[in-house]
Amino acid sequence: MTPLAAILAARIAAAGPMRLSDYMAECLLHPDHGYYTQRRVFGRRGDFVTAPEMTQVFGELLGLALAQAWLDQGSPPRVTLAELGPGRGTLMADVLRAVRVLPAFRAALTPVLVEASPALRAVQAERLAGEGAVWAGSAEALPEAPTFLLANEFFDALPVRQFRREGPGWAETMVALEGGRLRLARAAPVPVAALAHRLADTPEGAIVEICPAGPGIMAAVAGRIARHGGAAIVIDYGGWNGTGDTVQAVRSHAYADPLADPGLADLTAHVDFAPLARAAVAAGAAAGPLTPQGTLLTRLGIAARAAVLAPRLDPRGRALLQAAVARLTAPAGMGTVFKALPVRPRGAPALPGFAEEVPLPDAEGSP
Ligand code: SAH
Repeated sequence: MTPLAAILAARIAAAGPMRLSDYMAECLLHPDHGYYTQRRVFGRRGDFVTAPEMTQVFGELLGLALAQAWLDQGSPPRVTLAELGPGRGTLMADVLRAVRVLPAFRAALTPVLVEASPALRAVQAERLAGEGAVWAGSAEALPEAPTFLLANEFFDALPVRQFRREGPGWAETMVALEGGRLRLARAAPVPVAALAHRLADTPEGAIVEICPAGPGIMAAVAGRIARHGGAAIVIDYGGWNGTGDTVQAVRSHAYADPLADPGLADLTAHVDFAPLARAAVAAGAAAGPLTPQGTLLTRLGIAARAAVLAPRLDPRGRALLQAAVARLTAPAGMGTVFKALPVRPRGAPALPGFAEEVPLPDAEGSP
């Protein structure tokens, strides 16, 4: 048993089964034993590789897209360049390097990082030394200023509650104890107001998940964009009003049992972009269209950028770059499972790489 498993088992023994979301929160951010609080987890030697850790081109293209949005909105003189969940700081470093081609944008921006893990804050501070970066404790604490923001694989790290449809009610997935070991259990079905809109599109017995923290974070970001200008690009794997159990644990590049080693494996869930887009619109911004990552990166010129970079690399670097570009864009890789949701002020030009927004679909629609 990991130390965290013992702590959680004692808590369940004393207070009864806990929600899956509470279990995920402890596994990821427990102050002593959480996955993100404890470990330096990204990169080839970590448990999983994210897009910015695969190639610098990812951050360069997204940085230039935000710089173009800044120009399109009249080059406001003091802006926030924010990132949610910056990991090792690689994406922000690539963005800051790329936007040097537009010195006025670099001069106007302050990098602001929203990071919950003190260990990862330290990694980011080292990586971004000399860049003038500051940290905010939450999205709600971002400055009231024009906000240009990226979030890659952030929302998938937020805990989800999970339910099974049973008639008019929903049976919540709980983490319980059986013979001293953690195991999944299901609470008795009850009506859930937050899932009222899913009664129409969820068959009996199907699983749905909700991310309680996601919409509030999006509302904080989109409210700033609506009030002061700016743009956000949220990239993650997921879909639109999905169903199914998507909670997964990954350890050393392999899937693991989410209950096996709490605190030692990364726990994530697919992102449902529909409630995020609704929250952005309710906060006064325009959101969408949800766009496959491969489509976005292709439109932003990933092939041309890789062609410029390749001759400067040694053969191994070239091979890694080509593999990364293929994996990020190919439908069989990350090109369609990963999607990008753009947010901008109503009436502002569409962000580079995205089509004009489509009307927000209703609960049953697809983007
Ligand atoms: N964006 C990075 C890292 C993704 S991992 C990349 O693409 O490589 C998720 C990141 O979000 C980590 O930095 C983690 O510590 C952070 N994080 C997770 N939950 C958070 C929360 N509630 N508030 C702020 N940061 C959080």
